[in-house]
Amino acid sequence: MICPGCKSDMIVVEHSNIELDYCLNCHGVWFDSNELELFLKSIKLDTPDLLLSHILESVEAETKEKKRRCPICRRKMKKTKIGDRPKILIDACTRRDGLWFDGGEVYQLVKTLANKKPGGNEAHDKVMSFLAEVFKARTRHKTGKI
Ligand SMILES: [Zn+2]
Ligand SMILES: [Zn+2]
Repeated sequence: MICPGCKSDMIVVEHSNIELDYCLNCHGVWFDSNELELFLKSIKLDTPDLLLSHILESVEAETKEKKRRCPICRRKMKKTKIGDRPKILIDACTRRDGLWFDGGEVYQLVKTLANKKPGGNEAHDKVMSFLAEVFKARTRHKTGKI
């Protein structure tokens, strides 16, 4: 799949039955439709606010950031803000193909969610080792489907 941010080829990273497309060039991450939810569940940080349906219902964010095209259907994606303090601006395909996070935004989101959970640092450390594993170790090049 081609990166919606910088148009490089993305690689696929796999972790506990979740496949993410990751751009080695700009470090953005693409989640297919319900993969964000599965991802957050796998690290016990899921919240109803971050279901794809909820994200798509939220208002379009006002921003000067350029609209990106969905890497699957090629339509322009909707800009929307998720999380709180800080809010993170992400791109969502209105046809429910998935969600795009710019480099560092997944980390930011996970950090925000982990900070809200009791257990503080311990949860944070777990998440950091998880992310390191997902984004550094388990990579392979995708074949076929673009
Ligand atoms: Zn990229
Ligand atoms: Zn799409």
